[in-house]
Amino acid sequence: QRGGSNLDAVEQGIWVTESAGDGSVGLSGGPNAAGVVQLDACIMNGPDHKAGSVAGLEGIRHPISAARRVMEKTRHVLLVGEGARMFALEEGLESVELNSREKYDLWQKQRAAQKSKPAEKKPAGHDTIALLVLGANGNLAGGCSTSGLGGKLPGRVGDSPIIGSGLYVDNEVGAAGATGLGENVMRYCASFLIVEFMRQGMSPQEACVKAIRRIIQNEPKGANLSINFVALDKHGRYGAAGTDGGFQYSVTMPGSSRVLPNPGIGTVER
Ligand code: ASP
Repeated sequence: QRGGSNLDAVEQGIWVTESAGDGSVGLSGGPNAAGVVQLDACIMNGPDHKAGSVAGLEGIRHPISAARRVMEKTRHVLLVGEGARMFALEEGLESVELNSREKYDLWQKQRAAQKSKPAEKKPAGHDTIALLVLGANGNLAGGCSTSGLGGKLPGRVGDSPIIGSGLYVDNEVGAAGATGLGENVMRYCASFLIVEFMRQGMSPQEACVKAIRRIIQNEPKGANLSINFVALDKHGRYGAAGTDGGFQYSVTMPGSSRVLPNPGIGTVER
C-alpha cells in the first residue's frame, strides 16, 4: 500500500510465522524421523520471474530469507541440505539450535500415543505459510515456508520449496500457494496449474476449486488428500479452496485484515 518492496512484504510477513512457534513453520517445526528439524522455503518475484528456494535446511531461523538470498545473490534457484546451510551462514543469517533431544523425545511420545488412535483422528502434523502479495505498483510476489511433515524420512522434501508446486507467481496473471500433504500437491504442480487456470479466464476461487477437483478425479476413492490452496490475481481478486475442514486463510487489504473460514470446494465467488 505504501509503495514499498513486494519482496520485503513477503519476507517480513513470513518472518512473523517463522518466529511464532506454531509447531509447523520455522524454529518450532516438528522433527523428522531422525529427530532433526529440516526446513523448506521459497520465494518468487513477479516482474522478473525470478525464484529462490531452500530445502532440508537445518538450524537457520528464517529459511525465507535464505531463499530470497538464493534468488538475489546466486545464479541458482534451489539449494539443499548442508549446502543451503553453509550459504545461509555465509550470508550472515541467524542460526539457532533446533534439534534438541527433548524435542525428539516429545515427538516420539506423541507418535506412540497417536498409534493407538483410529486413522481419521490422527493429527496431520504439518502446516505451511504461503503468502501472496499484490503491491500498489500492480506487481505480484509470493513466498512459502514450512518444516514439512512431522516424522518425515530424513531428506524428504515436500511441495513448499518446489516452484510450481507449493508456490507460483506469474506477473501477467496471478499467484497461487499451497498447504497440506506435499506429496499430493507436487504430483500435480498444483500452484502452476491454478495460475494457468486463471490465465484461461477463471477467477482465483474457480481456479482453486478446479485444481482440487482435477486432483480428486485421479485419486483412489476416499484418499485423505489434505490439499488446500490460496490464489490471488492481477486485479486483486482472491480465492481459496481446501479439503481440510480446519483450513483457514487470511486476507489483508488497506484498512482491513480478516481470517476466513475453509471455503470448501465449490464455494461461491467472492
Ligand atoms: N506442504 C507441506 C509439506 O508437505 C506441509 C503442509 O503444508 O502442511 O511439506
